[in-house]
Amino acid sequence: MSMRLSTEVLVIGAGPAGAAAAYWAAKSGRMVVLLEKETMPRDKVCGDALTPKAVGHLNEMQIDVDSTTFHRHHGLRMTADGQSIELRWPTDHDHPSHGLVIRRRYLDEMLVGHAGDAGAQVWTGVEVTEPVIEHGHLRGCHALGSGKGTGPGGEIEVRARFVVIADGPLSPFGRALGTARTRQYAQGVAMRGYFPSSQHNDDIIESVFDLRDSAGQQLPGYGWVFPVGDGTVNTGVGLLSHHHGNDPRSIQELFQEWLTQIPESWEVDIENGEGEPEGGRLPMGASVRPRSGPNWVVVGDAAGSVNPFNGDGIEPALSNGRLAASVIDQAIDSGDGLELRQYEKQLISKYDHYYRLGRLATKALGRPGLMRRFTRLGIQSRVLTELVMRISTNLVNNDAGGTESVYEIGKVVARLIPDRD
Ligand SMILES: Cc1cc2nc3c(=O)[nH]c(=O)nc-3n(C[C@H](O)[C@H](O)[C@H](O)COP(=O)(O)OP(=O)(O)OC[C@H]3O[C@@H](n4cnc5c(N)ncnc54)[C@H](O)[C@@H]3O)c2cc1C
Repeated sequence: MSMRLSTEVLVIGAGPAGAAAAYWAAKSGRMVVLLEKETMPRDKVCGDALTPKAVGHLNEMQIDVDSTTFHRHHGLRMTADGQSIELRWPTDHDHPSHGLVIRRRYLDEMLVGHAGDAGAQVWTGVEVTEPVIEHGHLRGCHALGSGKGTGPGGEIEVRARFVVIADGPLSPFGRALGTARTRQYAQGVAMRGYFPSSQHNDDIIESVFDLRDSAGQQLPGYGWVFPVGDGTVNTGVGLLSHHHGNDPRSIQELFQEWLTQIPESWEVDIENGEGEPEGGRLPMGASVRPRSGPNWVVVGDAAGSVNPFNGDGIEPALSNGRLAASVIDQAIDSGDGLELRQYEKQLISKYDHYYRLGRLATKALGRPGLMRRFTRLGIQSRVLTELVMRISTNLVNNDAGGTESVYEIGKVVARLIPDRD
């Protein structure tokens, strides 16, 4: 016999997006059930780098990262065409001036624990199997508990007034409700591994834009080295999928080539990697629509929220989760489900121009030769590299100068490509 329960807010998936939504909803006094199919701690394929803006979200969630041992970075080294420029994270805005590298098994466990502490009912080891739809209206979900996590075993039915869909890049629950990815937009594919390095404590992260395939052609993507501070670095490659399609062999081959190209200064011991390298998809640039329905919202990777400039998905996930909780709270307060329309509206006003520019950039960089020209030009100018760093991490000031700069870059991108999808 199946177990049944009711809640105000049901959250499906406990990555950063779902955990943030559950935390903020519980914090505002809502009854929340958060379901996660894995048991915690669990690994999630990721570069593990949090931008200063993402650290700002953790601070706002009152997670005291300063008292933790998580590894801090204070800047970014960008390498291209045999040259490097090191930049410190900007200090002239509201966010912290440092980022973090945190293995996802620790970050996600911490976030989920935090949501639980705020009052959310967290059930791990419970896989959502299908939506419960009655008279065309979403009423909740059916799920199956393994009995291995914090949730019960067996069949479960959760009925809810509002549902937050945070089930990651493939988002089976979202797809069952009719969400779809716009295929003309680029998607990222990436692969990472952990390797010992004497420089694991460096306070800088590095992105290398000299990615080449076996024929020596420069590729639209980058290699990274992110020091974890625990004896290892997280290193990997990310590529725009319109270049190599979705062929998983391509990214594996590229990863193997990348291992031989990692800058020597990191002293990475590529022979002694930890476990098997793993890869995944990055749905980016607000590529999934719709992102809300009458009583549901979609957040994080499930909504295609990865930043198209740099593959950063944790910060948008935390941000989406908070926004989702806030509109649901208002909808419950006012008794007006139409409040949920604010979710889409606010996402559009907050991110649309930025993501549109990002999509244009990814489109331009997917063209043979353009990536090479961009990186050659960029790496020769500290001012331009700093601007790229600010834009790609969404740390542009909202003053006239910052906004103007974005549009200057936008105009260059727009000039280089015809404006049609
Ligand atoms: C190789 C690689 C490197 C990356 N590097 C970075 C980086 O350095 N920095 C960065 O900011 N971003 C990075 N990203 C992107 C980042 O990992 C994602 O954007 C981020 O994890 C999105 O969070 P999320 O909560 O939306 O989804 P996820 O983190 O994918 O969480 C979704 C959760 O839903 C659960 N779930 C799924 N289906 C069900 C179900 N049916 N029932 C119950 N639970 C379910 C999953 O188990 C999972 O825990 C990288 C991605 C890849 C692939």
